[in-house]
Amino acid sequence: TGKTAFIAGVGDDKGFGWAIAKRLNQAGATVLVGTWPPVYDMFKKILERGKLDTALDDGGTLEIADVFPLDAVYDTMKDVPREVRESKRYAQHAVFALEETAKAVKKKYGKIDILVHALANGPEVHKDLLETSREGYLTAFSTSAYSLVSLVQKFGPVMNEGGSVVSLTYLAADGTVPGYGGGMGAAKAALQSDTRTLAFEAGRKWNIRVNTISAGPLRSRAARAIGFIDKAVKYSMANAPLTQDFTADHVGTAATFLLSPLAGAITGTTMYVDNGLHSMAMAP
Ligand code: NAD
Repeated sequence: TGKTAFIAGVGDDKGFGWAIAKRLNQAGATVLVGTWPPVYDMFKKILERGKLDTALDDGGTLEIADVFPLDAVYDTMKDVPREVRESKRYAQHAVFALEETAKAVKKKYGKIDILVHALANGPEVHKDLLETSREGYLTAFSTSAYSLVSLVQKFGPVMNEGGSVVSLTYLAADGTVPGYGGGMGAAKAALQSDTRTLAFEAGRKWNIRVNTISAGPLRSRAARAIGFIDKAVKYSMANAPLTQDFTADHVGTAATFLLSPLAGAITGTTMYVDNGLHSMAMAP
């Protein structure tokens, strides 16, 4: 209650970012989101027209206080190539890089308490690693792993002491998941490793906690684009200890715990929220 949260990577009501927004709002937080410029107009439109699933578990309605344009591959506006800045989806926004967005958030809402990284992109995710180009691999790392490092660098100074950061990772960091290619498995491994190092450095520097959630398979927009999501859902159903449907809200509740004072001594961890699939070493 009384806390302010910034969630980077919300573009519709199907993904983990949205589910986390709901649970944080229900717990009393003011929710600000960062939306990728290519999907910004569409998201604002359906949000304003009331076309998104805003129903909270307690009967209330999700309120998003503000939507900031954000492209997490740019650390400062100086890094944005002119052709991007002048392109259709970007030209209308004065700022959308991480540093300027952090400053804009601070200016309008003061210091924040909660920071969520719910974004990833790997242009060659559908390709085997043996077919992946250097550029595709490095883009996966830039968008999906370094973006967390930069997010914490830029937002750390505008976070209150005792604040908390959560990101999303995937089991492909720990073992081979055929079909999750393009260097995305390694990018998630980097994200988990960086979570430990960022926990130490940001803990000492600002007294904030940094954790990541390894989530089960969800039919989000990003996952549908990868193409193997139905296979992953089926595999999880057949092999995980728990056979209940895995939902975005399972991650929403776990993230809210990690982001709350209830998790006050938890930092640097990867928490598996996946019906237990990660714990199996042999199919049942
Ligand atoms: P999603 O499509 O709801 O979220 C991804 C968001 O990232 C989108 O809103 C997209 O617009 C945004 N985005 C992409 N590139 C960006 C950029 N350069 N700057 C800013 N935003 C950008 O899908 P999701 O599945 O909820 O993904 C959220 C996180 O969960 C990702 O880190 C993903 O890897 C992770 N995850 C997903 C699954 C799954 O099965 N869906 C499983 C484990 C982990």
